[in-house]
Amino acid sequence: MAAAHPRIMLMDALRLMTRRNVVRGIAAAATSFTFPCPSRAQSAARVVVIGGGFGGAACARALRRIDPKLQVTLVEPNKVFTACPFSNEVIAGLREIDAQQFGYDKIAAEGVIVIAQAAVKIDPKARTIGLADGTSLGYDRLVLAPGIDLRFDALPGYDEAAAAQMPHAWKAGEQTILLRKKLEAMDDGGVVVIAAPAGPLRCPPAVYERASLIAYYLKAKKARSKILILDAKDAFPQQRLFENAWKELYPGMIERVSLSQGGRVTSVEPATNTIVTDFGNYTGAVANVIPPQKAGRIAEIAGATDNTGWCPIDPMTYASKLVPNIHVIGDACFGGTIPKSASAANAQGKACAEAVASLIAGRPPANPKLPGACYNTVAPGYAFSQQGVYQARDGLFAESEAVATSPVDAPRELRAREASAAQNWYQTITVDAFG
Ligand SMILES: Cc1cc2nc3c(=O)[nH]c(=O)nc-3n(C[C@H](O)[C@H](O)[C@H](O)COP(=O)(O)OP(=O)(O)OC[C@H]3O[C@@H](n4cnc5c(N)ncnc54)[C@H](O)[C@@H]3O)c2cc1C
Repeated sequence: MAAAHPRIMLMDALRLMTRRNVVRGIAAAATSFTFPCPSRAQSAARVVVIGGGFGGAACARALRRIDPKLQVTLVEPNKVFTACPFSNEVIAGLREIDAQQFGYDKIAAEGVIVIAQAAVKIDPKARTIGLADGTSLGYDRLVLAPGIDLRFDALPGYDEAAAAQMPHAWKAGEQTILLRKKLEAMDDGGVVVIAAPAGPLRCPPAVYERASLIAYYLKAKKARSKILILDAKDAFPQQRLFENAWKELYPGMIERVSLSQGGRVTSVEPATNTIVTDFGNYTGAVANVIPPQKAGRIAEIAGATDNTGWCPIDPMTYASKLVPNIHVIGDACFGGTIPKSASAANAQGKACAEAVASLIAGRPPANPKLPGACYNTVAPGYAFSQQGVYQARDGLFAESEAVATSPVDAPRELRAREASAAQNWYQTITVDAFG
């Protein structure tokens, strides 16, 4: 049997000493918010958040702010989180990786118990979580925020070993640095091939932002080189804005083969950097292969994923439609048109904290509007954006206001203003998540 986690034992002991009544009740079922748990008035409910990224970190902090009596635990294996937004700038040599990195000290100082372990097992009946070090901890409510995993079974030839040769750089960190090093080592005149999957995927426009910023690097350092995007989609977000920017800034450098033109990648051969489509083989000097994706593996272990690989939820409470007392936020969940972005994960993290605190207190959950800003930088001082507002409607997230996209014909001053707005957005969202 797994041992209780030592930090949790200490917390329990402290609580035993300071509280008269420590009877633990059974938390209300995921959607039965009208029946508060009778023991909640007397003992602290235990909420565990798995995953300390944009969604999970924001959720854990918000839970403590909303109800300081809650015992909030954040389970995250990495002592330092490496953020994806702006990681395309790291790949292009415009920024260093440490500008992407954030620790958990401030979150711990706010009273969240931070456990630097991966969750490896979840028993929804016993409401326990098994950790990689063999210890376990219990929960009344569990929030899953594990982000994505790459589907190494979905693209023949592409596995973890292949990712060392053909980096995806779709989880920031070592992969980001690897792709940058490969670009730096490439001879002038080489072709960088980017293989983009069909949706749903994490941050769809980031593929085209990446192509733009790699073009910026190549134009400055290896001007005879080119970029080829092999795309399993016909259309992509903010397409006209990207394509106009490519004509203006990088004429003749970026070519894209769409789905209907034969761009869907069917397999890869890492030994030769070859990418295979139905219509031909392409060999890149550098190959950036972004495979299909799914919810982080722990969501599957919990039984919270369906056959799409993502987690269906009730968007009012983030309650899993498949497992009681489990909520899912961020990239891992699926529920309508809200994009898989750091903006959305952060907004969902805070809204989920409100919903979980309401469920525990027996209050009906609110239906807040979630802001979702998406900035794309195509060169230093040149960005555009899409701003959406989302809300639960008929069991799914839907746009509650028309999505606002930057105008296609805009002066460079507006692009420059949006580039600094993007920097401010990053500053705000990372402080919001990590303190
Ligand atoms: C190149 C790129 C550029 C992007 N740019 C933008 C942008 O400009 N704007 C924007 O809004 N979004 C952007 N995104 C998307 C954004 O990064 C994600 O949507 C966001 O990180 C999702 O947040 P999350 O909390 O769901 O997952 P993450 O932020 O990925 O956090 C998941 C966390 O869960 C942890 N975890 C996983 N499994 C376990 C486990 N078993 N036990 C414990 N912990 C676990 C992981 O270690 C990780 O820390 C970009 C993405 C990419 C790839």
